[in-house]
Amino acid sequence: MNKLGRYLAAGGLALLAGLAPARAQQPPLVIGGTIVGADNKVIPKGWIVLENGKIKSIGDKKPTIKDARVIETDDIVFPGFVDLHNHPFYAVFPRWKAPKVFANRYEWRGDPAYLTAIQNPEGKLVTSQFCNIVAYVELKALIGGTTSILGVFHPADTPNIEPCIGGLARNLDWSSGFHGPLGQERIGNVLGVRPGDLRLSEEAIAQFKQGKLDLIAVHLAEGQRNDPESQREFARLQDLEMLGSKTAIIHGVALGETEFKKMKEVGASLIWSPRSNFELYGETADVPTALRQKVTVALAPDWSPTGSTNMLAELGYAWQVSQRDFGGRPNAQQLFEMATIIPARIAKLDKKIGSLAPDRAADLFLLHPSKPGRTVYESLANAAPTDVTLTVVGGLPIYGTQEHLAALGQKDSGPADVCGQTRAVGRDAFPDLLAPIVTRLSDALAQENIKLAPLAECP
Ligand SMILES: [Zn+2]
Repeated sequence: MNKLGRYLAAGGLALLAGLAPARAQQPPLVIGGTIVGADNKVIPKGWIVLENGKIKSIGDKKPTIKDARVIETDDIVFPGFVDLHNHPFYAVFPRWKAPKVFANRYEWRGDPAYLTAIQNPEGKLVTSQFCNIVAYVELKALIGGTTSILGVFHPADTPNIEPCIGGLARNLDWSSGFHGPLGQERIGNVLGVRPGDLRLSEEAIAQFKQGKLDLIAVHLAEGQRNDPESQREFARLQDLEMLGSKTAIIHGVALGETEFKKMKEVGASLIWSPRSNFELYGETADVPTALRQKVTVALAPDWSPTGSTNMLAELGYAWQVSQRDFGGRPNAQQLFEMATIIPARIAKLDKKIGSLAPDRAADLFLLHPSKPGRTVYESLANAAPTDVTLTVVGGLPIYGTQEHLAALGQKDSGPADVCGQTRAVGRDAFPDLLAPIVTRLSDALAQENIKLAPLAECP
């Protein structure tokens, strides 16, 4: 049975109502470790209690709770990452080596090499393999500690696939679990401000102008700083009356001090995706200037082919860029915030996600620090994929080591190799086995002479 069939058979009605499956019936979970709480309050040897999908308490004394499932670890407990810029459907494709440095996004999007390697096969696969792709790419996000993600949308020509979008990570533009029925979210995604891109985003723009959205995220100024097309786009956004406090500009590589000042003035934010910028354009956004102008800046991976596999990998990449090019600003703690509470604030969801505090959603991950003597943020900025030992979404243990999943009462979905270590998915969150999904995707991609991307990129 496919993911859709299983969800319909096992609690599909709850999902159709926009709720994550079975999240309400779990026994309380108690996790011991170093807790990174709200406002960066770090509790060494702390305890966090999860109940009914939310955080019940955080403290330094081990709680005694009847019937609770308990793990005591040496790990760091972080809030789950909030990823506001991704194109998850492309995460089944292997890394794409750009044949040259491009002036702007329009150049590579029309490049025959790109069309053959990625865009044309993606168009076919997203229809025939929709549910398998969603499962695989969301697993890739969970491996890197992401618990909320943007970009998994409902293709107009693929009916009846709604339920398989729910279930793993929260999909902030389709099924976050916070706004009732599927498709009632308050975030819109706009591909860009050229007429063709706007046509694809008409619905989101209309909703934005009617005041129905909390956030519109728009690709803008994605090209080299001296590229005239990329320089023109900020004015175009203003002409369209789409620059305001509910606007997040994705990329903004070509923006300078004048534009950042204007962004601060109106309360617009910037979403920074350095790896993809460097691979495609040889440079990235002037984040130090944006921060100096007090623009709100979040971090996100863009996509796997030229960006990072997930949030954890992009945070590590941004840390390298910061040290190499920006004199260490943003520092490791700022990068952590740019991946958690800041994007939650930008999405107007900071009362629910982005930090660990009582009554917030129980969305978190555990990271095993690989070297002693580092701050929790330095451990995060230097982490490898295998350092993540557990990811929890809505109180459900969804990804992790088989030991953690078993101790927290989860059957698992069969082993997955993550950089030489075994990980699995908890079956309360995801009833399918992983192996058949991998086989179906590998077979479908093989017909296009493409190899399925690995679950993680290993150091
Ligand atoms: Zn993008």
